[in-house]
Amino acid sequence: METVKIKDRSFAVSIPEETIKERVAALGAQISADLAGEQPLFLAVLNGSFVFAADLLRSVSVPCEISFVRMASYQGTSSTGKVRQLIGLNESIEGRTVVIVEDIIDSGLTMKELLLLLENYHPKRVLISALLVKPGNLKVDLDIPYCCFEIPNDFIVGYGLDYDGEGRNLRHIYTVED
Ligand code: 5GP
Ligand code: MG
Repeated sequence: METVKIKDRSFAVSIPEETIKERVAALGAQISADLAGEQPLFLAVLNGSFVFAADLLRSVSVPCEISFVRMASYQGTSSTGKVRQLIGLNESIEGRTVVIVEDIIDSGLTMKELLLLLENYHPKRVLISALLVKPGNLKVDLDIPYCCFEIPNDFIVGYGLDYDGEGRNLRHIYTVED
């Protein structure tokens, strides 16, 4: 099996490019069927989702739009602790069907915060799509109608996901070895 070395770790192919492409196309078709007659706004969460978003969107056949957002955290006052903020949401989502495009859901805490932040903007509904989900690590209750692959709790890179900034350009999804 093909392996790559990034910094101090080696990674082995776990989901080949062809399998990803087929699954992402099927998910795009499913979303299109489910949202027929609507004009969803896809919200891709940077950085990791940029490759998935590019492939997913080209498999969607209903009229749609996409916007790219980022979760930023900064230190609040000592009473509020770490505060998370949503950056890049420039259009109104009021009354709209929003589809979040996320690279990976691990504990689910980031997604839970994103859902809470989006509620302030009164969307009609928010649906979650994720390339990868690690069900074994989920710490919160999440409804994830659109997931490409469920994977074990191992660290992965490639297809947009990084290890310490590198590896986003890899065409397959790789799992860390040992
Ligand atoms: P959560 O809040 O669900 O625990 O974490 C989600 C974020 O953690 C993802 O958006 C991603 O940035 C990072 N993450 C979790 N697991 C992995 C992994 O296996 N590989 C990479 N590259 N990032 C991960
Ligand atoms: Mg992410």
